[in-house]
Amino acid sequence: MKNFDYAAPRTEGELLSLLSTEPGHTELLAGGTDLVGLMKKMVVQPERVVNLMEVDSLRRLGPDEEGNLWIGATVHLDDLLAIPYLENYPAIVQAIRGMNSMQLQAQGTIGGDVCIRPRCWFFRNGHGLLAQGGKLAEQGDNRHHAILGNEGAAKFVSGTRIGPALIALGAEMRIIGPGAEDEQYIPVADFYRTPRHERERETMLAPGQVVTHFILPRVEQVHSATYEVRHGEGADYPLAAAAANLEFDGSVVRRARIVMGQVAPTPWVSPEAEAALVGRAVTPQSADEAGQAAVHRARPLSHNGYKVQMAKTAVKRAILLAAGQPTGGF
Ligand SMILES: Cc1cc2nc3c(=O)[nH]c(=O)nc-3n(C[C@H](O)[C@H](O)[C@H](O)COP(=O)(O)OP(=O)(O)OC[C@H]3O[C@@H](n4cnc5c(N)ncnc54)[C@H](O)[C@@H]3O)c2cc1C
Repeated sequence: MKNFDYAAPRTEGELLSLLSTEPGHTELLAGGTDLVGLMKKMVVQPERVVNLMEVDSLRRLGPDEEGNLWIGATVHLDDLLAIPYLENYPAIVQAIRGMNSMQLQAQGTIGGDVCIRPRCWFFRNGHGLLAQGGKLAEQGDNRHHAILGNEGAAKFVSGTRIGPALIALGAEMRIIGPGAEDEQYIPVADFYRTPRHERERETMLAPGQVVTHFILPRVEQVHSATYEVRHGEGADYPLAAAAANLEFDGSVVRRARIVMGQVAPTPWVSPEAEAALVGRAVTPQSADEAGQAAVHRARPLSHNGYKVQMAKTAVKRAILLAAGQPTGGF
């Protein structure tokens, strides 16, 4: 690991004063479960590491006056599982439980999960974010790479597990920096980007900016779920995942938000799946058709065609789970 300066600020003002606007100069440390590994492998080599865990405001957790739930970026994942507020957001609870690791849940934070660097073994072995303009993934072992949104150089998949649920639930996030007065609130759906060249990153976050909070809108009807298709029950990433959030008029779906994970360089919103479901009752058939619509535009690479069926199944079962119906399968 390369030597670096270390700082542990206590306020947002101190935090911003320690961050550089020069790309790669500073890295933010939360639980460190992902960042430290990347630093050990010299994939990221910051001059300074700024620890977020001592900043009080980033630990906020609870509803505001309007009933929106605020979650600070450094809240640990197991603390989220322990609070009653998440009862109305089962899609998030299921995504966290899917990690299947007490250690990762105890050490990892929600901000770290949402901002996690891409899942791609070429990137994680030092070949750059796009791994030679996408050539390494195109010609090499691409079994875990993208099946959607992979037309450009970015072939990796977004590794966030909770991001699809936050997007499906219509969450917003608060971002501060790079200036002391800079503060913005954006939908989590607008956070992720597909980089076109090595100088771009996979989110809209610029150097010197920090995600401080997630804001979940008050829920009127609790019909959300995350379903992950996994290789096994250990602490590993899913092969494909989907989050669904449904609103009903009686038994008919009035509004649906379907977001896939682990299939594209960003969490992948599927308007096709949503359109296939709206105006219908949730049945195994309508959920299956929504799953088919979700993967209609999939373009698998040479070794990941199997993910198309898995993504379709994840969408189908997330919808059934959100509607309180049996999902079938294991
Ligand atoms: C053995 C192992 C297995 C894992 N398995 C899984 C898995 O199955 N599923 C899964 O989802 N994850 C997995 N992970 C990844 C990781 O543990 C989790 O995603 C965790 O939630 C990351 O949180 P963290 O606080 O430790 O992040 P960190 O490592 O501290 O940070 C992750 C990234 O986000 C940035 N960051 C953190 N907080 C902020 C913020 N507030 N604003 C801006 N940027 C920020 C950091 O700079 C860094 O680039 C695994 C990790 C390990 C080591």
